Amino acid sequence: MAIIEIENLKKVYNPYSAYPKVALNNLSLKVDEGDFVCIMGASGSGKTTLISIMSTIDDATNGKIIIGNKNIATMNENEKSKMRKNEIGFIFQNYNLIDSLRIKDNILFSLRLNKINKEEQIEKLNKLSKQLGIEEILDKYPSQCSGGQQQRAAIARALIMEPKIIFADEPTGSLDSINAKELMVLFRKINKMNNTTIVMVTHDSLVASYSSKLYYLEDGKISKCIEKENKKQEEYYKEIINITTKMDLSHV
Ligand code: ADP
Ligand code: MG
Repeated sequence: MAIIEIENLKKVYNPYSAYPKVALNNLSLKVDEGDFVCIMGASGSGKTTLISIMSTIDDATNGKIIIGNKNIATMNENEKSKMRKNEIGFIFQNYNLIDSLRIKDNILFSLRLNKINKEEQIEKLNKLSKQLGIEEILDKYPSQCSGGQQQRAAIARALIMEPKIIFADEPTGSLDSINAKELMVLFRKINKMNNTTIVMVTHDSLVASYSSKLYYLEDGKISKCIEKENKKQEEYYKEIINITTKMDLSHV
């Protein structure tokens, strides 16, 4: 069953200026519930624009966007912000933790906003920090933690609300290859265990090989879609490398 449906999505930046920029051009795609979808494409191909619109952070110029049976176009700002708070988790390259708050207070931020009772807060915090291996940094401030630890804290913050969908834009962008791989193992676990839908942007083919489906963007359009299906990860990885290098060369 589709949890996200996008039809003929168009995004034009600065539409009334002398230089309007068409970032997405009649793009259509579907994400099924429980999918782990990866979006790749050259720099400037529209990946961040697409994930921002899919996650309701930004508005489309045109097109239909349905998230979990709800048409975004018919929702007001209030309804959208409620959906962002309750159903969607965000993970970014630069973690976006609040520097002045301890790690545990960063993670508990949304639960406190939603006035979830204290025992439940602590229970969820303990369970997640164990799962993510960040128990020893809970009392530290972000600046006292490594990049990998901060990213895991940001993930705990996103997961604590038990979102149906996680949107991640270059989540491994600031991590070394070992931490990047660990993060993908974790994403896969979350995806499999909780059936959480994941939509992730990356330019790293190895990171992408943890997904179950891949869309390749070119000039604001999907030029290619491949699925992992029953293939071994290694084989899927080779396929990804194959399409990404071909696509890169086609610009030369
Ligand atoms: P990607 O994430 O794939 O690198 P983006 O979605 O950030 O690509 O950008 C797609 C295109 O839209 C690029 O040409 C970029 O320069 C342009 N763009 C992105 N954001 C804006 C903006 N706020 N105003 C004008 N142009 C933008
Ligand atoms: Mg981007």
